[in-house]
Amino acid sequence: MIILIVAIGLRNFIKPSREQGTRYECINCKYIYNPKVGNEVAGIKPHTEFEDLPEEWTCPVCGKNKEDFRPHKDN
Ligand SMILES: [Zn+2]
Repeated sequence: MIILIVAIGLRNFIKPSREQGTRYECINCKYIYNPKVGNEVAGIKPHTEFEDLPEEWTCPVCGKNKEDFRPHKDN
């Protein structure tokens, strides 16, 4: 019982730290991937987290791959 409570407490503690809706910026062309919008041209539906994008996804502006994106925080 105590283990269960600790496990639930730990889950609730970890969950908020896993950021949802983080935007990613292409370091090459400054394109910003917004997970709330997705990338419909490339078949990426809205609410697709950057981490969940297929590995073959590339920047729709300059064609760089995911490795050339960095988290973008301005709020
Ligand atoms: Zn780019």
